[in-house]
Amino acid sequence: MADLAPTVDRPGVHVAKTARDFPATGSYACRCGVSGRATGDDNVRDLVAEWIDHRNTCLHR
Ligand SMILES: [Zn+2]
Repeated sequence: MADLAPTVDRPGVHVAKTARDFPATGSYACRCGVSGRATGDDNVRDLVAEWIDHRNTCLHR
């Protein structure tokens, strides 16, 4: 299966939740070079909020 994690060349956010009892994993990357990743439902939720916040302020979108 292809690695769907975003990179600087393919910016965006990706969240994976493979099973109910398995913690979600997420990662994001922006054209400006900012990136992050998190594991765990709560952490991924924060990560996505962080990405949205960054996307709203970043000049490189
Ligand atoms: Zn950015």
